[in-house]
Amino acid sequence: MFPNKEKGFMTYPRVMAPREAIEDRVAHWREFEGKLPNDELRKQAYRCMNCGVPFCHQGCPLGNIIPDFNDLVKDDEWEEALHVLHSTNNFPEFTGRVCPAPCESSCVLAITDPAVTIKKIENSIADKGWKEGWITPEPPLKETGKKVAVVGSGPSGLAVAQQLRRAGHTVTVYERSDAPGGLLNYGIPDFKLEKKHVKRRIKQMKAEGVKFVLGREIGTDIPAQKLVDENDAVVLTIGSTQARDLPIPGRELSGIHQALEFLPQQNRRVAGKEVSGGGITAQGKRVVVLGGGDTGSDCHGTSLRQGAVSVRSVELMPRPPDEQNPATPWPNWPVILRTSSSHEEGGERQWSVLTKSFVGENGHVTGVRGVQLHWDMPKGGRPQMQEIPGTEFVWEADLVLLALGFVHPEHTISTELGLELDERKNIKAPYGAKGPEAYRTSHPKVWAAGDARRGQSLVVWAIHEGREAAHAVDKALMGHTGLPSINSFGYEEAMPAE
Ligand SMILES: Cc1cc2nc3c(=O)[nH]c(=O)nc-3n(C[C@H](O)[C@H](O)[C@H](O)COP(=O)(O)OP(=O)(O)OC[C@H]3O[C@@H](n4cnc5c(N)ncnc54)[C@H](O)[C@@H]3O)c2cc1C
Ligand code: SF4
Repeated sequence: MFPNKEKGFMTYPRVMAPREAIEDRVAHWREFEGKLPNDELRKQAYRCMNCGVPFCHQGCPLGNIIPDFNDLVKDDEWEEALHVLHSTNNFPEFTGRVCPAPCESSCVLAITDPAVTIKKIENSIADKGWKEGWITPEPPLKETGKKVAVVGSGPSGLAVAQQLRRAGHTVTVYERSDAPGGLLNYGIPDFKLEKKHVKRRIKQMKAEGVKFVLGREIGTDIPAQKLVDENDAVVLTIGSTQARDLPIPGRELSGIHQALEFLPQQNRRVAGKEVSGGGITAQGKRVVVLGGGDTGSDCHGTSLRQGAVSVRSVELMPRPPDEQNPATPWPNWPVILRTSSSHEEGGERQWSVLTKSFVGENGHVTGVRGVQLHWDMPKGGRPQMQEIPGTEFVWEADLVLLALGFVHPEHTISTELGLELDERKNIKAPYGAKGPEAYRTSHPKVWAAGDARRGQSLVVWAIHEGREAAHAVDKALMGHTGLPSINSFGYEEAMPAE
């Protein structure tokens, strides 16, 4: 079908998967991106140039071996492609859906043409793997007798747990919520990631022998010291859950909520679970979302689906350039205008706005008072903002959602165990160190990974950190490890120490 490898990108254009029409998709909570037919996916994979120096591979935090799986998909060798993908990524169906795909930004083809559709190919490989029954439990061949506790079941905790269990350790994941998955489950809306994908992986992990203890908060319900005493290693993957607040006049008014008070409630409703007191809803309300990023965009899309009268998403920073930004040339992650699927669905966006206060009546918010900003961007210096005189305004609002980022993890466990924190108050544990010292906190039996260690980030980084921490823990417990690490140069550590 594809005789001349070099001609793929000259023969076929980039094709995106179809999306449901906006008026249809905002009426439900399901994923709305369709599939590409098998032949089309093979053409898309054929566009890959199999570069001698594949920058896509370097752009992917997991080091996904992208040219190889593209080549296999081109040749219709899907099961082998899945094997290649799983060799660096435990959960490609998660990243295939929610990753911002830095690999595509650094694809060599992107210098002159639209990048290879790496993310869609990854997602299609994973989905086909599940459909065909190629993804099955992989329990360890022998038990080591070592015990590991993982605290927190987000993508980082799940990756640590799966890797360490497959290495033969007894692994228990402790999660304070009533369901595992962290932000994959309670946070990221169902229309971006249906929860059946998370459930399916948890089922696989349980069949491999990972135990899950749900509804128990470590440091509160169970002392962290108990886990340290009863296990050979403890890995903290508790996320970065302390939300940034906006302490301006009127913050005490009702109707102003943190994004993570709002979004998980909708996940619960979709799952058919109870939301006490009916919860927060945007139905029939004028909504203002303060803050951009994934969290702000998710509040925007959720509010539209709940039936908001209006949704306005507001950012402090200026509107980035539409397409090319000379400040972030290829192969860097381009700082350009990002229009998420939620932004496409309706509402409006505003940039360069400083929120000065909230206004209200009878204790409830009725508006947001703000002013337009002028930004100076001195070369090499920090951006400077100035209020533009005479541009003050009040936007009417019945619901204000704060999506201003997350400052650091909660400190209950680190205080109890006396763990050192870094300058941003994340759990201090070295990145880039090799062997057992990587990701090890100031306590010799405790490691940390994911957002709790690196600060708020991405699912792909959380999985990367989980895999790397697992490598380090296994090495510490056994003196050698067969678990891969891209920080320790691939599989070099796989050889047992003499
Ligand atoms: C709304 C939202 C949307 C996002 N969308 C995207 C996206 O589209 N793409 C993307 O790549 N990234 C996205 N992100 C970021 C991404 O979700 C995170 O970077 C990632 O989930 C971090 O994984 P983690 O395992 O480190 O922590 P988390 O996913 O935060 O998981 C931490 C878990 O630890 C549990 N926990 C905390 N303390 C304790 C304790 N003491 N005892 C027991 N359990 C505890 C928590 O309940 C939680 O389940 C989004 C983030 C948010 C908030
Ligand atoms: S950089 Fe792009 S074209 Fe080159 S190997 Fe990677 S996906 Fe293929």
